Amino acid sequence: VKSRLGLLLLLSLALAAGCAKQPAAVPAASTQPAAKAPKVPLAAQPTKPTAGAKRIAVTIDDGPALTYSVKAMDEAEKYGGHVTFFVTGQRLGPDPQMIRLMQKRGHLIGNHTFNHVNLTTLPDEKIRAQLGQTNDLIVAQGGAKPTFFRPPYGGHNARVDGVAAALGLRPVMWDIDPEDWNQKNTGAHTVSYILSHAQPNKIVLIHQVHNTYLVLDQIFAGLHRQGFTVVRVDQLPKYAAAPPPPGRVP
Ligand SMILES: [Zn+2]
Repeated sequence: VKSRLGLLLLLSLALAAGCAKQPAAVPAASTQPAAKAPKVPLAAQPTKPTAGAKRIAVTIDDGPALTYSVKAMDEAEKYGGHVTFFVTGQRLGPDPQMIRLMQKRGHLIGNHTFNHVNLTTLPDEKIRAQLGQTNDLIVAQGGAKPTFFRPPYGGHNARVDGVAAALGLRPVMWDIDPEDWNQKNTGAHTVSYILSHAQPNKIVLIHQVHNTYLVLDQIFAGLHRQGFTVVRVDQLPKYAAAPPPPGRVP
């Protein structure tokens, strides 16, 4: 028992080190069963929201963690929705199951750096490594090449964005932040904050933390009740793929 406790402690320390703002992580990637990952084709586009439906994006940072990620997909899909996961390279273990599932089920996978670092503090080549290695890992595990990154702590500037753009990555920030990483904030707070601030075409930020895990059903049910379709970031007008420049035949 003692050694198991020690292991758990080590595990939570490792997780806490991964994200300074995330004290209560849900089960880590290491709890994933060693699955023989079946060959999964690259996902089709997610279901198109009904014309005229109000759209809102839910972005989930700091994963993947199997239990949380699957529940988030289940709850979003109950109402025909899809989420955007911003994953860190360090949480992508040798088991590609999580990325394959996200991809297969039509959710969007974005880049949240390798070690959850503030990119503005790094020289260009380290920024390139943080984003590039995470992109490579996502692709190696069966995900589509990411086109969006979420800078940890919101830390980005023109230099960071320039290095990211060379890797095909656009920054995505957020509009609605219940600060669920703060353990003082209960799940009930997260739900009421999101539902009282929800507006069309805005981006919600939540984390893979235990308090939020417990209320995922309420978040997606509540948004649905308010008439929102939960969409991927690339289904928001602001982030939809840019049309080809005029005069160029695609
Ligand atoms: Zn983060």
